[in-house]
Amino acid sequence: MPVWCCRCSLAAHFRNYSDTETEGEIFNSLVQYFGDNLGQKVKAMPLVEETSLLEDSSVTLPVVVIGNGPSGICLSYMLSGYRPYLSSEAIHPNTILHSKLEEARHLSIVDQDLEYLSEGLEGRSSNPVAVLFDTLLHPDADFGYDYPSVLHWKLEQHHYIPHLVLGKGPPGGAWHNMEGSMLTISFGNWMELPGLKFKDWVSSKRRNLKGDRVMPEEIARYYKHYVKVMGLQKNFRENTYITSVSRLYRDQVNNDGQGRNVSTQHLQIEKSKFTKRNWEIRGYQRVGDGSHIPFCLFAENVALATGTLDSPGRLEIEGEDFPFVFHSMPEFGAAVSKGKLRGKVDPVLIVGSGLTAADAVLCAYNNNIPVIHVFRRRVTDPDLIFKQLPKKLYPEYHKVYHMMCTQSYSLDSNLLSDYTSFPEHHVLAFKSDMKCILQNISGLKKIFKLSAAVVLIGSHPNLSFLKEQGRYLGHNSSLPITCKGNPVEIDAYTYECVKEANLFALGPLVGDNFVRFLKGGALGVTRCLAIRQKKKKHLFVERGGDGMV
Ligand SMILES: Cc1cc2nc3c(=O)[nH]c(=O)nc-3n(C[C@H](O)[C@H](O)[C@H](O)COP(=O)(O)OP(=O)(O)OC[C@H]3O[C@@H](n4cnc5c(N)ncnc54)[C@H](O)[C@@H]3O)c2cc1C
Repeated sequence: MPVWCCRCSLAAHFRNYSDTETEGEIFNSLVQYFGDNLGQKVKAMPLVEETSLLEDSSVTLPVVVIGNGPSGICLSYMLSGYRPYLSSEAIHPNTILHSKLEEARHLSIVDQDLEYLSEGLEGRSSNPVAVLFDTLLHPDADFGYDYPSVLHWKLEQHHYIPHLVLGKGPPGGAWHNMEGSMLTISFGNWMELPGLKFKDWVSSKRRNLKGDRVMPEEIARYYKHYVKVMGLQKNFRENTYITSVSRLYRDQVNNDGQGRNVSTQHLQIEKSKFTKRNWEIRGYQRVGDGSHIPFCLFAENVALATGTLDSPGRLEIEGEDFPFVFHSMPEFGAAVSKGKLRGKVDPVLIVGSGLTAADAVLCAYNNNIPVIHVFRRRVTDPDLIFKQLPKKLYPEYHKVYHMMCTQSYSLDSNLLSDYTSFPEHHVLAFKSDMKCILQNISGLKKIFKLSAAVVLIGSHPNLSFLKEQGRYLGHNSSLPITCKGNPVEIDAYTYECVKEANLFALGPLVGDNFVRFLKGGALGVTRCLAIRQKKKKHLFVERGGDGMV
């Protein structure tokens, strides 16, 4: 079955233009593709067959998005033609920003100068467009205000850029794999996506929000619903695993700017092709009967929206692969809910001092499972995350922090108590008899028998589908990509990778780990692609389709 909707015969619009096609043919296809702007009205958005597999390798898409979490969803929303304008009645509390917005209120934010708008703004992201978009969607949120967004959204179908969003699970990404009993760190409305208020969605489900923080499961359902209600479903393929993304086409100019020995005319012809097979994307789709169907797609642009949760951090110590050692909260949560640890006398070892480790402590504690909690930091370490969370809003995390401080191990500790902390300790090894060896900073070792161990020391993106595991894209190309230490290096306003043209990255991959900020990535990428699309349209109009510049 073809990927594209045959009824509309739109497959042709996105085909790769082979060398044998004449420029005139290319132009005709583009006239159809850009019908709206070239004088014809687009009747409907180009459709991708919803149930189809990804098996038609003859198509080249303008954009393939890898990852279907909030980053991929928000990008799809904007690539689908949704455009943000300053609301007529809105007054942004930042008077300088407001007057800049007033200057061009007839233009959507996508069509404005993002560098100019974001100048002078400050926020909790190092990406200026992320800070700009956040302040437009949640003005002064960091000062405790709950002002409405100053933007309103319009669907302008002629801005539609055909794209596919691929992801392992259902739309919503990491939010489908979070432990069900915990509450989000952020307020529910901070996780909402443009054009659909989280509160409105909750009340449409005839539920009331009990507090500002919500269950991750609710957010996951909201994202699934969002994709449906915004009409984005046709662009989404779930159960899809990308195994390789490789560059096929490069501009015939070397990175050092030296042109190769290629004729100017050939260069112009190459550049004039509308949708270039820049990228080959390979992977497989898991289908109902459990089988894997391989596919190969081509794209002019690829956007990486894979998040950073696919490779849980490992201690890299002896015995870490024993089946009693878990590396994620969902694995541990599943073992607990299946009753596998019920009635065990030996404690569960929890390793880590972040919020996910704290979630595991709470999960064990609430299920009467004794815990030994090991972490390298001192309890007074000012960088401990608990110190940054207001007590009133996060009482459960402060309860864990309180236990970390007051129930530390000492020689006369009773390990049969509910909880014992081991600050400034690390795990040396796990043994087959379910024992672990701990060591403190003075080198003193202790051995404990466990019922299970959970290592929760952060996670990394898995970019194994890219050359060098994507390392070459980072600020420091000798290190793996990480959200905080070594994010993908991007142009601050387009989110295009500095080291790879036509490859974009957003979300935690570029340091924006909170949903509030990753939306800026969608704005930056959409603006960049919209500008390039416009330039191409002009080029073809100027050429009048005769194939010669
Ligand atoms: C326990 C926990 C609590 C959190 N609480 C909050 C909170 O309160 N507020 C907040 O703003 N943020 C929170 N976050 C962070 C939040 O998860 C991220 O900000 C957000 O999900 C990032 O969105 P994303 O779309 O970039 O990536 P993700 O949501 O991670 O989605 C990316 C998707 O891409 C998929 N993918 C990766 N590689 C491939 C591949 N090769 N092929 C196919 N698919 C692939 C992944 O499996 C994943 O499903 C929390 C995270 C965790 C772990």
